[in-house]
Amino acid sequence: MVFSHVVQLPEKINELKYFGNLKEKVIDSGLCSHCGTCTVICPVYGIQAGDKPIEFPDWEKECIDCGSCVKVCPRWDYKPLSGVGDYIELIAAKSKRFSGQDGGMVTEIMAAALEMEVIDASLFVDRDEEWRTKIVTIRKPKQLEKGTASGTKYSFADVMPEMRKAVFRARKGVGMVGTPCMVSGLRNIQSEVTSFRENVKLAVALFCTENFYWHQLRDFLANKEIDLRKAVKTDITKGKFIVTFEDGEEISFSVKELDEIIPSGCKFCIDFTGIESDVSVGSVGSDAGYSTVIVRSKTGKEILDFIREQGYADFGEADLTAVEKLANFKIKKNRKNLEGI
Ligand SMILES: Cc1cc2nc3c(=O)[nH]c(=O)nc-3n(C[C@H](O)[C@H](O)[C@H](O)COP(=O)(O)OP(=O)(O)OC[C@H]3O[C@@H](n4cnc5c(N)ncnc54)[C@H](O)[C@@H]3O)c2cc1C
Repeated sequence: MVFSHVVQLPEKINELKYFGNLKEKVIDSGLCSHCGTCTVICPVYGIQAGDKPIEFPDWEKECIDCGSCVKVCPRWDYKPLSGVGDYIELIAAKSKRFSGQDGGMVTEIMAAALEMEVIDASLFVDRDEEWRTKIVTIRKPKQLEKGTASGTKYSFADVMPEMRKAVFRARKGVGMVGTPCMVSGLRNIQSEVTSFRENVKLAVALFCTENFYWHQLRDFLANKEIDLRKAVKTDITKGKFIVTFEDGEEISFSVKELDEIIPSGCKFCIDFTGIESDVSVGSVGSDAGYSTVIVRSKTGKEILDFIREQGYADFGEADLTAVEKLANFKIKKNRKNLEGI
């Protein structure tokens, strides 16, 4: 018997190798969201993310022209997603076990998933003293009781580059937390690669208006004499960027001032809630100290029901209109940039 398997390669836009195509159409054009999905799939480990635009040093020589990077890139054949999306439940919640950026619900959801053995590893975005992002693998809820793995870091993080290792090491499954673009990248790679489809069991998206390069945010804040090394929390809320220090002092300024350092790729995004996730979590739509939780999948629902049964969180009503308002604001802000791409 003869088996034939035909892999459909994407159509090129130039004569170069595939990475040269990705570079021209997505990276150099400024469309790239920096989700990092291309770094995961590159079979020669050539593509790099980090605190700089996506690059592949010496790609003319090293790229094997397999087309994988182009195949999984959410911005190659870009079909922008938007809105609140389909959901089973939308609720405000606050973890009783963990503190976090808002209600600590992302941390709670991952801890519950570990306890339920839906997953045996979860990738979190931790930080160093200067707020540079670093990825940590959480295997036990206890690891989340202290430290800085919870909480929002307003900088790109190498979640996707770390996914490959996590997926291959998984015994039960992997949970990931990411911005909406990362979740879109994950879904693309899951449709191409069986191990990702089978092993990534839970994807939590964070509501997102924009992200930043760490060095640009640090320099911007340094110009305002804000030293991130002394900060314990950074937050964007109600149009303000707020930095909180160890002694409780706060400095805030209009988030519009950050427009000059918004990475180009974020200006093409209209997906505020991360509609391809299992669960989306954000700040808007809930009282202070609570997270807005949008449950979309059966797995997400089982985890939230477990949290309820165990009494791990307090619940309240979330304001759908407030979420829709910010989702629509993002569409209005960036729709023009999508014309003609
Ligand atoms: C760049 C960015 C922009 C955001 N913009 C908005 C917004 O405009 N409106 C809004 O309502 N909410 C926004 N959020 C989400 C919000 O800040 C909180 O993360 C969310 O409400 C969850 O709070 P929590 O207490 O439940 O999470 P926690 O329990 O504190 O957990 C936070 C989780 O986020 C992960 N994380 C932290 N930083 C990053 C990062 N850079 N990339 C990927 N994962 C990360 C951590 O690993 C952790 O798993 C944004 C988040 C990010 C990362």
